[in-house]
Amino acid sequence: MLIPINSLSRRQRAHVDLAMKIAFDASNTQGFRHGAVLVSGGRVIRAAANTEKPTRFGTRFRTRGTGIGTHHAEVSCILGLDRSLTEGSTVYVIRLGRGGDLRLSQPCQMCQAVLQFVGVRSVFFSVDETMFKKARL
Ligand SMILES: [Zn+2]
Repeated sequence: MLIPINSLSRRQRAHVDLAMKIAFDASNTQGFRHGAVLVSGGRVIRAAANTEKPTRFGTRFRTRGTGIGTHHAEVSCILGLDRSLTEGSTVYVIRLGRGGDLRLSQPCQMCQAVLQFVGVRSVFFSVDETMFKKARL
């Protein structure tokens, strides 16, 4: 479902703003700035950015032959959490372009598989400067 950014609720907008701040503050991401926020029961559980560090957990969920997974923001925001915090939750994901503009941040195959595995129910990601998309996993 596509949602214009100016139709987001105040709470949704706050989660998006937090994801943007985390992505903006992230360093060593070689130009790819993603931020993700895990929300469960209306509470922010964790906010995380992507890093270039490899993750064995993520790699388990990659399609064979597609290499090593790194800490994408979505993976970083669920790692090590108890399932009671991830089951039925929502993950907000954004990507910033070089100028700080919102870009398409649809979770990749690995991240979708990881989020499904830990019970995340839906993702909410930036499409461009004007639109978000909500998708059930
Ligand atoms: Zn990913």
